[in-house]
This record gives sequence, structure tokens and C-alpha cells, in this order.
Amino acid sequence: DPRIHGIQTKIRVVPDFPKQGIMFQDITTLLLDPKAFKDTIDLFVERYKGKNISVVAGIEARGFIFGPPIALAIGAKFVPLRKPKKLPGKVISEEYILEYGRDCLEMHVGAVETGDHVLVVDDLIATGGTLCAAMNLLERVGAQVVECACVIELPDLKGRERLNDKPLYVLVESH
Ligand code: 5GP
Repeated sequence: DPRIHGIQTKIRVVPDFPKQGIMFQDITTLLLDPKAFKDTIDLFVERYKGKNISVVAGIEARGFIFGPPIALAIGAKFVPLRKPKKLPGKVISEEYILEYGRDCLEMHVGAVETGDHVLVVDDLIATGGTLCAAMNLLERVGAQVVECACVIELPDLKGRERLNDKPLYVLVESH
């Protein structure tokens, strides 16, 4: 699809952010280009419209940028998966291991129900730990994760292998 190249060129790569040796994929420059941002959303909407997805779950923070316009366009609920202690209601939590230390995602109890068909959205998959935790949360409440969708994949980090054969759809790969 010719739109993919345009999207790729708008993602800025920032060396040594947030620390030495990391090549940070910065999607804020993509958001500054209305055509490329719209193409990004449209590509996801074209893939998921009419696929019976009842919930789009977006991962804090950049999943909150791409998830809601997809949810609106396909007529699904949007559910935020948040970092600890941000959600005011009763939550369920899923801890996961990072390179150094741990992190955690939380979801409001009752936001997603047994039988919901869920699309999980984030900006980028690196090691896959974040998406894996998100899927665990959703499956614990009886939902069915249909697919995970990211703008960018860092395939060298083999994050796909942590998703237990759950389908992952990405627009751009970065090496
Ligand atoms: P993983 O859990 O797959 O190792 O890391 C993915 C998570 O870290 C995502 O929530 C993503 O937003 C964030 N992340 C890691 N590296 C980058 C990066 O280079 N650019 C952006 N935009 N996000 C990153």
C-alpha cells in the first residue's frame, strides 16, 4: 500500500533517548502530518471494520492516541489500559517484567465483559511484554483478543514470540 511509505517517513528516530543506545521511534512527528496520521487510522479501520470487534483496548499512553479514532470509526467501545493508580474505580492489575524492574497495567472491572471481541492497540511493539500483559488482563475477564495492532514493530527484539501465536498486525518495521 503506497500509504505505508508516507507513514514511515514521518516517524522520527531519536538516537540515545531515553538513554544511551536506544533508537527511539517518535510518533509525535507523524501526528503533525494530518495526511499521514489519517492514513494510519484509515489502514487500521479498513482492516477491522465489519469484523465484529466490540472493544478497542488502548495501552497508556500512545495507545490512547491511535485507539480512540479506530474505535469510533468501527463502532466499538474504547477501554483504556492504564499504568497503576490512575483509574478511580475497581480495577484488575497485571504485572510484567521489564529489562530493569517491573511495570503494571490496570483495567476497570466491568469495562470489558465475557464474550467481548477485543482489538488491542499500541504505538509500538518492542519485546512484547506490554502487549502480553494487556492480553492477559483481557483474557482474565473472559474476553477474546482478536488481534493486536501497532504502528511500528522492532522485529529484531522478537516480541511476536511472546504473544502466544496471537495475531499481530503492524504497519511499519524498524531495524
Ligand atoms: P515492549 O513491552 O514491547 O518491550 O515495549 C513496548 C512499549 O514501550 C509500548 O507501550 C511503547 O509505547 C513503548 N516503547 C518502547 N520503545 C519505544 C520507542 O522506541 N518508541 C515509542 N514510541 N514507544 C516505545
